[in-house]
Amino acid sequence: MSGGVVLRRCVSCRERRDRRLLWRIIRQSSDGVVLDGATTKAMGRSAYVCPSSRCIEDARRRKRLQRALRCQVSDSIYAALVERLSESHAAASEAR
Ligand SMILES: [Zn+2]
Repeated sequence: MSGGVVLRRCVSCRERRDRRLLWRIIRQSSDGVVLDGATTKAMGRSAYVCPSSRCIEDARRRKRLQRALRCQVSDSIYAALVERLSESHAAASEAR
């Protein structure tokens, strides 16, 4: 419907992928750093990461989101990513 695929780069593996396959983390001036989803209209500088434990772990260890967003990223953001990952895995296995 909306035409071409928008490619974004994962902060960890540097792979360029379809934006819809990546998770977006946004730095908002008002609320600080948020995950995409709850606020789909979030504006601000954003970073993308693959929904994989490897990329999320790597991003946490090497502070890649901090660098991409040029601000502090609290551990709760990484924790929320890990949680979302386990939820999506649970949903995928339930669907089978
Ligand atoms: Zn990645």
